[in-house]
Amino acid sequence: MKATIAVLPGDGIGPEVVGQATDLLALIARKYNHEFTFVEGLIGGLAIDQTGDPLPAETVAVCERADAILLGAVGGPKWSDPTASVQPERGLLELRQHFGLFANLRPVKTYPALVEHAPLRAELLQDVDILFVRELVSGIYFGARQEQGDGDESHDTMRYNRAEVEQVANVAFRAAQGRRKRLCSVDKANVLASMRLWRRTVVEVHEEYEDVALEHLLVDAATMHLLTRPGSFDVIVAGNMFGDILSDEASVLAGSLGMLPSASLRADRFGLYEPVHGSAPDIAGKGMANPIGMFLSAAMLLRYSLQLETEASAIESAIDAALAAGLRTADIAGAGEEAVSTAEFAAAVKRHL
Ligand code: NAD
Repeated sequence: MKATIAVLPGDGIGPEVVGQATDLLALIARKYNHEFTFVEGLIGGLAIDQTGDPLPAETVAVCERADAILLGAVGGPKWSDPTASVQPERGLLELRQHFGLFANLRPVKTYPALVEHAPLRAELLQDVDILFVRELVSGIYFGARQEQGDGDESHDTMRYNRAEVEQVANVAFRAAQGRRKRLCSVDKANVLASMRLWRRTVVEVHEEYEDVALEHLLVDAATMHLLTRPGSFDVIVAGNMFGDILSDEASVLAGSLGMLPSASLRADRFGLYEPVHGSAPDIAGKGMANPIGMFLSAAMLLRYSLQLETEASAIESAIDAALAAGLRTADIAGAGEEAVSTAEFAAAVKRHL
């Protein structure tokens, strides 16, 4: 197949991991007879330096012409002055909003080779394979707010309408159908009216997916269950804020931020794919970034935007094989284990592919 992929490397370790990911996708194209065209665009701090805008119109145009977007990370100390008129992170928020990417998918998986070094007991981490589906463009982060400057009162509003809940619930139920057919919906329906609407709507949408077992958890209980029975979850769907908090909590299950991919999707096949981690300025330029989160994001791009399941699985298996062979970047190397560089790890993944 022919596909155009917009590539936005961004700042810090962004270009280091994105460069490896486009090489990997080029190898996939050769191996499976596809034609991928990569078109680069500026975003974040680098875009501010060169154009004054963290999301230049030209970058939006590049993305509009593409089938999917592959992004590294944005931000860094150079642009972190909170009083500055533009922040690199605004480029990313604008991109998500511009394309109406309402469903944020974040898979969290533990690898047998890594559980020894994880912060939870190894037996709790057997078979952890969770897909978070977080609503990304509504809820309390986008509700009416009142800022009082330095005053004594301000407020934010959590609001949802039926259509917003329905569309993200549909994504979650469909994802569960392709996995182990279990969905856990997280809310705070005992206290919040918007969350009662959330629960009611999820129950209604469930009628179209009777093969999926539906469970509801209150968000406070969910934080505990994630640590005491992480292996029991399949897909978890949550609103914007609860999904944000829970998916970060769950990221410790995987051992390192560098392991985690994400996809932000809308109703058609278009999507934005990026690792969960930031620009990691502390290790930028040292060639030691873990490329796994970026590689798994590229695999998600193949799976969701291009519907190339075999090719996506091939990348995931090649990563498993590199880990099983003992290769570790510094962030996942245990005591006494030698760390390899980003390039060495990437080369091993390509060899296994
Ligand atoms: P971070 O994710 O960049 O780094 C946190 C820690 O994890 C650091 O010690 C870093 O070295 C390590 N780490 C992250 N990714 C890694 C990888 N692939 N391999 C090995 N180690 C890795 O978070 P931060 O330090 O809070 O933020 C740094 C900058 O990134 C800030 O400007 C922040 O705003 C930005 N940020 C951007 C995004 C994004 O682009 N989506 C997300 C989060 C933070």
